[in-house]
Amino acid sequence: EHITVADLAKELSIKASDVIKVLMNMGMMVTINQPLDQDTAILVVEELGHKAEEAVIQSKAEKLKEETEKEIDSSEAETRPPVVTVMGHVDHGKTSLLDYIRKTKVTGDEAGGITQHIGAYHVKTPKGVISFIDTPGHAAFTAMRARGAQVTDLVILVVAANDSVMPQTKEAIDHAKAAGVPIIVAINKIDLPEANVDKVKQDLAAHEVVPEDWGGDTQFIEVSAHTGQGIEDLLEAISLQAEVMELTAVKNTAATGIVVESSLDKGRGPVATVLVKSGTLKKGDMILCGEEYGRIRSLIDENGQNIKSAGPSIPAVVLGLSGVPTAGDEFLVVKNKKEAREAAQENREQERETRLKRQQAAKLENLMSQMGQEERITVNIVVKADVQGSVEALKDSLEKISNEEVEVKVISSGVGGINNADAQLAAASNAIIIGFNVRADKVARETIKESDLDLHYFSIIYEAIDQVKAAVTGVLGTET
Ligand code: GDP
Repeated sequence: EHITVADLAKELSIKASDVIKVLMNMGMMVTINQPLDQDTAILVVEELGHKAEEAVIQSKAEKLKEETEKEIDSSEAETRPPVVTVMGHVDHGKTSLLDYIRKTKVTGDEAGGITQHIGAYHVKTPKGVISFIDTPGHAAFTAMRARGAQVTDLVILVVAANDSVMPQTKEAIDHAKAAGVPIIVAINKIDLPEANVDKVKQDLAAHEVVPEDWGGDTQFIEVSAHTGQGIEDLLEAISLQAEVMELTAVKNTAATGIVVESSLDKGRGPVATVLVKSGTLKKGDMILCGEEYGRIRSLIDENGQNIKSAGPSIPAVVLGLSGVPTAGDEFLVVKNKKEAREAAQENREQERETRLKRQQAAKLENLMSQMGQEERITVNIVVKADVQGSVEALKDSLEKISNEEVEVKVISSGVGGINNADAQLAAASNAIIIGFNVRADKVARETIKESDLDLHYFSIIYEAIDQVKAAVTGVLGTET
């Protein structure tokens, strides 16, 4: 159960001298052929991982961000529009609702404007401006949260009045609560004869989303994305909630914000929709945007019109970046190109390094579990499912597959879609990911691909168990 310094270095794809250096710093003098016990080896890996983290903390991008933030005079903060994300079960009307609001509110006063799908839009209402993230569903919300970015101020939870609470409704509630974002419920499709508003209220109250008229603190608005009934009330409810939240930002400063959507356009090059969090973004600004940078060649609004600037909570399309940034990346206006380029370059290198470290950690974990337990192999699994009942059932049944030679270990389980945190955990533990009636979001899928992880979707419990059983016997190479 020992590993030599040389073998450990090889396993981690680093130089033996680097392992020796780490151990020296921890007060241990070792030679290249010295055997290390498991605990010491783990300490080395942790130390290496720790270093990577420290480096990230002191990155150029962070320094630039600090400088920008220092210049913000918070006494100048003004009220800013709320940023809203629409969530809810599939087919409950998220897209219809977003389309209805956009159609009736955005085009109205902008002459000749053709609304474009840019990932976000803002509307003017009698009670003020509201910005909507126009990619319905949980993927965008989770992807951004996984990257530590919070853009959404409040969530509109769409629940169809003829269908009531469904698995993704619960998932949306979990996500909103985990992010600490208030919910406004839009009971949709009330134009249908089978609409049952009371049932929706009851079902949601059971999930601790309690309507105001029942003594709770959540606004419930009855709407129809088909007839438009109640939409004005919904917009008013949003403004009311925003007022209570006292959302503010400083307008007169260098802009910071978040990438909401991005793509590569044949003619225009990298295209990114950003949402300004604070300050004012201007055409001609030099921005740093995750691993990319560039001077803003054009700034375009949701009507396809060129604009000169975008203030707090306002979305805009940015052209002129060096490459396509990732949704959830922060952007930041910086003073000069050299600084931006260097910081972007560093971000790129760090991303590569973190990926490498994850792979090394996974390798080691694998090695350790195999050497520590005298041939008994551990198969790690991350389980995500749509409902708690399935989580429990899967966890129990999967772990029961364990036998003398193989230990099946569910290292993490929970309700909800597979997000980047799940993927990263799986990467770090060399685990198989199982999604039961849930899918992996975009960021998670990227991590899964990069780290070459095993991902399986199931909707029948027995199938999941049979497949893992088959895999386990496959690991053993025995026939059953
Ligand atoms: P999403 O999956 O949540 O984005 O749902 P969609 O917006 O795609 O809507 C799903 C289906 O419900 C579509 O066929 C819509 O036409 C229909 N739908 C959406 N809103 C309403 C509504 O208010 N009333 C009725 N009767 N149907 C609606």
